[in-house]
Amino acid sequence: MKRRNFLRTAGLLALSAAAVPEKAIPFFQKDAALSGKSAAAFPEKPFPFSRKGLAMDFEPYPLELKHVFTVASYSRTATPGVQVRVGYEGLVGYGEASMPPYLGETVDSVVAFLSKVDLSRFSDPCALEEILAYVDAIGPGNNAAKAAVDIALHDLVGKLLGAPWWKIWGLDKKRAPLTTYTIGIDTPEQMKLKTREVEGRFRMLKVKVGLPGDRENIRAVRQVTSLPLAVDANQGWKDPAFALDMVHWLKEQGVVLVEQPLPKEDIDGMAWLAERSPLPIIADESVKRLDDVRRIAGACHGINIKLMKSTGMREAWKMLNLARALGLKVMVGCMTETSCAVSAAAQLSPAADYADLDGNLLIANDRFRGVLVEDGRLVLNDRPGLGLTRL
Ligand code: MG
Repeated sequence: MKRRNFLRTAGLLALSAAAVPEKAIPFFQKDAALSGKSAAAFPEKPFPFSRKGLAMDFEPYPLELKHVFTVASYSRTATPGVQVRVGYEGLVGYGEASMPPYLGETVDSVVAFLSKVDLSRFSDPCALEEILAYVDAIGPGNNAAKAAVDIALHDLVGKLLGAPWWKIWGLDKKRAPLTTYTIGIDTPEQMKLKTREVEGRFRMLKVKVGLPGDRENIRAVRQVTSLPLAVDANQGWKDPAFALDMVHWLKEQGVVLVEQPLPKEDIDGMAWLAERSPLPIIADESVKRLDDVRRIAGACHGINIKLMKSTGMREAWKMLNLARALGLKVMVGCMTETSCAVSAAAQLSPAADYADLDGNLLIANDRFRGVLVEDGRLVLNDRPGLGLTRL
C-alpha cells in the first residue's frame, strides 16, 4: 500500500472507530455469571479514556473449560484469567492473562502487578519498545500479567496503523500452519471418544503423555485415527534412557514430534536425548523468554513459544527470530485462553513450523472471535490489530 493510502486508511479507521461506538457487549461477564443472567444483558463498561495519553483497565475473567483437562502434573476444570483493555484517542485494544496453576501466577498477583502499571506516562502507544521495557522493569516474573499489557498494546497499535500484525511483521497469512488439537490424559476409552469427537476438523493431534499408561493411551488413540500425532510429556519422563525408548516406540506409532520429554531443568538430559532421538524434540517448559533460547539451543531441535511465558508478542517475535538464526524449529503454542490471546499468538504463526493454538476451542465462555481453524489450518483475517470481533 502506498504511504498516502496507508495513512488515509489508518486515519479513516481511527475516525470511524471514534465516531461509531463499538457495539455494546459485555466486558465484565463475571457479573453475568454471578447474577445467573445471560452475559448479553450486561453492556460493556465504557472505556475510561484519558486526555493525557494511554489508559488501561482490567478485570478478572475465569475461563471455563468444556472438559476436565489432565496433563502429567494436574487436572483442572477452569483456568483463572484477567482481561485487559488499553485505550487511546477513541480506540481500544484487548489483551489477557491466563494463569494455569503450574506457572505460579494468580488473579491476585496479576491484579497487583497491573495496578502498578501507569501507562498515562506515555503519549505514543507505538513506542512499544519503550513502554514494554518500562512494564518489564516493574518487577521480575509476572510474565502473564506483562503479556496481557503487551497483547492489548499490540491490538491497539494495529488498530491505529489499520493493519493486522501478521502484515506489519511482513508475513503471508496463507502460510499459517496446521494447528494441533490437544487430547488430554484420560482413560483409553475417553481418549478415543475425544479423538472421535474432533474427527475431520484437524489434520494433526497432540496427545498428552507422561504418566503410567502412555503406551495404552497412544494405542487407543491410534485405533481411531490415522492422523499424525505430536506428543507432549510435560516433563513427565524422568530418565533420558527411558525417554529415548519411548521416543523410538512413539515413532513406530506415527508420532512426528515430542514436546518437553524431561524435567525443564534437565538440560543435559535433553541434550543427550536430542542427539539420539529419531524425532524432533521440542522444548516448552525449559524455555520462557528470550534469554532462555540460546541456553536451550544445543539441547533440543525446536522451541514452543507461548505468549504467557514470553511476556507477550514483542518478545515472542524476537524469540522466533533468534530461534531461526540458531537453526531451531518453532512451535507457537498457548495456554487455555480466549480468542484474544490465541489470535495474538496466531499473528506469529505464518513464521512458525508448528502451531498448537487450540486454547480458545477448549473453553465454554470465549468473548471474542478472531483466528479460525478451517480443515485443521489456522485462518487469519485482515482486520487490524489482532483481528478480533467481540461476541
Ligand atoms: Mg507443552
